[in-house]
Amino acid sequence: MDKTGELKKIKDEVVSLKESPLYEERVRNDVFPVIGEGSHDAKIMFIGEAPGAREAATGRPFCGTAGKVLDECLRRAGIKREDVYITNILKDRPPGNRDPSPSEIELYSPFLNRQIDIIEPEIIVPLGRFSAEYILGKFNLQEKISPISTLHAQTFEEEASYGKIKIIPSFHPAVAVYNPSKKDKLMESFQAIVREL
Ligand code: URA
Repeated sequence: MDKTGELKKIKDEVVSLKESPLYEERVRNDVFPVIGEGSHDAKIMFIGEAPGAREAATGRPFCGTAGKVLDECLRRAGIKREDVYITNILKDRPPGNRDPSPSEIELYSPFLNRQIDIIEPEIIVPLGRFSAEYILGKFNLQEKISPISTLHAQTFEEEASYGKIKIIPSFHPAVAVYNPSKKDKLMESFQAIVREL
């Protein structure tokens, strides 16, 4: 099966993921799961936390206010959104945008793991604390887990199933939604990405 077919299979499985505590909420609100979007040959994969209201309404990741900040960071770094792949750990929206629970991360992360193995990015950019902790744990870097204010803009080199990868954690773009002065801090990770490309 080609990459598009394998990614479509993930979408079909998430659509019918009735064992998820977020499934009923999705159906009741008549909204969508958010699988991910972008280039299937992306060198860079951005991984957020979970879809927000706008994302669930459209089925697209980072298309609301945090997405506007992400778009600005990409533009300032000279990276085209269509060249990267953008996804989240959770594929369904937690009610009220609450934090993802450990059991939700456990349930949805196998889909993310498959997306990583299909797309084979060289650089993985976890956005925010939950994603950074999940990705560092997944790549056997548990001992490096520390506050995102320490992790951001650092580069960790690891081995994925398909070869060498670099992990560059970033603050979550939402930090700059109500506090534009945080944009410079966010940009430090994007500058690190450009240096590593
Ligand atoms: N926040 C996230 O973590 N992901 C999105 O897709 C939107 C907002």
